Amino acid sequence: MKIKVKLTLGVGLLFLFIILLSVLGTMYINALNKDTQNILVANYNTLDYSRNMLRALDEDITNPHSATKFSANLTKQQMNITEIGEKELTDKLFQDFSILKNKPTDSLLYVSIRKDLTDIMLLNMQAIQRKSDVAKQTATKATWWIGLTGAFCFMIAFVLLINLPGNIANPIKVLTESIKQIAEKNYDKRVHFESHNEFGELAQAFNVMAKKLEEYNSSSLSKIMFQKKRIETLINNLHDPIIGLDEKNMILFANDGALKILGVKTEDLTGKLAQDIAVRNDLMRSLVQELMAKENKHDKNPLKIYADNKESYFEKEIIPISIIPTGEKEQKHIGHFIVLRNITPFKELDFAKTNFIATISHELKTPISAIKASLQLLENKGTGILNEEQKQLTESIKEDSNRLLKITSELLNLSQVETGNIQLNIQPSDPSQILQYALEAVRIPAEQKSITLNVSADENLPPIKADSEKAAWVLINLLTNAIRYSPEKSQVIIKIKNETDNVLFSVKDFGQGIESKYKDKIFMRYFQVPGSSRSGTGLGLAISKEFIEAQGGQISVESELGEGSTFTLMLNKVS
Ligand code: ADP
Repeated sequence: MKIKVKLTLGVGLLFLFIILLSVLGTMYINALNKDTQNILVANYNTLDYSRNMLRALDEDITNPHSATKFSANLTKQQMNITEIGEKELTDKLFQDFSILKNKPTDSLLYVSIRKDLTDIMLLNMQAIQRKSDVAKQTATKATWWIGLTGAFCFMIAFVLLINLPGNIANPIKVLTESIKQIAEKNYDKRVHFESHNEFGELAQAFNVMAKKLEEYNSSSLSKIMFQKKRIETLINNLHDPIIGLDEKNMILFANDGALKILGVKTEDLTGKLAQDIAVRNDLMRSLVQELMAKENKHDKNPLKIYADNKESYFEKEIIPISIIPTGEKEQKHIGHFIVLRNITPFKELDFAKTNFIATISHELKTPISAIKASLQLLENKGTGILNEEQKQLTESIKEDSNRLLKITSELLNLSQVETGNIQLNIQPSDPSQILQYALEAVRIPAEQKSITLNVSADENLPPIKADSEKAAWVLINLLTNAIRYSPEKSQVIIKIKNETDNVLFSVKDFGQGIESKYKDKIFMRYFQVPGSSRSGTGLGLAISKEFIEAQGGQISVESELGEGSTFTLMLNKVS
């Protein structure tokens, strides 16, 4: 039965019984009231009239007052005839009283009237007795009926009280419990209500929902597991070693490549803190030292690791991982990836290239020098007089061989830089002498472009810690560039300043200048600003930087496009 019907029936029945009880109570109270009213009106009044008549008779009936009183009560009695036989007795009393009025001294009449009155009173008293019995019966009946109906009502109410709250509350309790289980991801939870009421329907709907959730959960779980497996396989198959760390630097995973170079098994790595592994493992230490230091210090030097049965080079990259958790707005840091890129093939190519450059530039030097020597011989009048055309040709061959010599020497320098074989001869050197040497070297090209070299130097310049040959080479390179990128008939300002700990050489030109986006790039190997003179190699500034930094100094540039550039060299004083 439906809960709604149950409730309506229960409450409706109680309501009906309350009405029934009220009707019964009112009915019986009315009946009792009627009974008493009957006694009062019909019999009690007769007794009262009779008592008044008796009193009037006792006083003196000859007295007109008593006679009137008797007569008035008699009239009232005549009008209050209610019992069988009462009328005859009243009529007889009336006759006797009528005779008495004419014969007031007849004592027998007195006796007869008294008897009449006593008979009337007796008749009414008997009636009262009878009617009181009837009222008693009515009361007993009322008690029975009301009691019976009340008991029945009580039974129904009791049954409802015992069953109805449980009937409603128990399924709700079971459902609440089951919903909690579902919330705790126990999707196999089901409810079974046998009844065909609303709770039965609710249970059915709940079971359908739980089943769908179970299906959804298992399907999405297997999908997620599959995706996880796929990503794991993918990471494992990557040749580059990869290590995943959580926000507390606990190792989440490491692919086969990482395990191989670290020389550990996965069970000895995953779930452990990177700092704990780093205590025993040198490679792990160098991998995570940046993370531990919490500084943004990035070591760009490749790691040299023995892997694949040979010395291999790896470029380390630490990638911080952040996510926006579902339902949140703020990004949350959840860990790092350490990726080691195997750059061994590039390194090998680089070595081969450097060796090749070194060999070629070295091998070229001798024939170029021979060409130059031959040119000198040709210029010598002893070998014959050259005509104008031949002179121009030898001049051009000389220029080209000078350029070739410059290029080969730059390439040789570069190969020295790249192999880390810079031969430095650092000694206390005189800055003015270095400048003089450089100025002498660029005098002719400056004159060719009518460029004034404006030199100013602080007095009493202290000696600097430098390889004077290499420092002069750098300065020549800066001056050559300044002359090359300056318009004709302009000037190049060269200054030497005495600073607290070092000496600054600056070369300022008023040429085309350098765009700010290229300012850092010009110190990279082979880089030439797009659109600038192609006659150079793009190596001069790169080699200069290496030379100056190897001597503990610094090189920098300040430039505005169209307004010229100022290159500055900083070299340390002798302490
Ligand atoms: P290059 O042999 O090509 O001059 P460098 O390494 O000396 O090689 O210079 C790299 C690039 O920097 C040049 O190609 C040029 O574009 C730019 N550069 C160098 N010096 C100057 C300068 N004084 N004014 C403008 N551009 C310059």
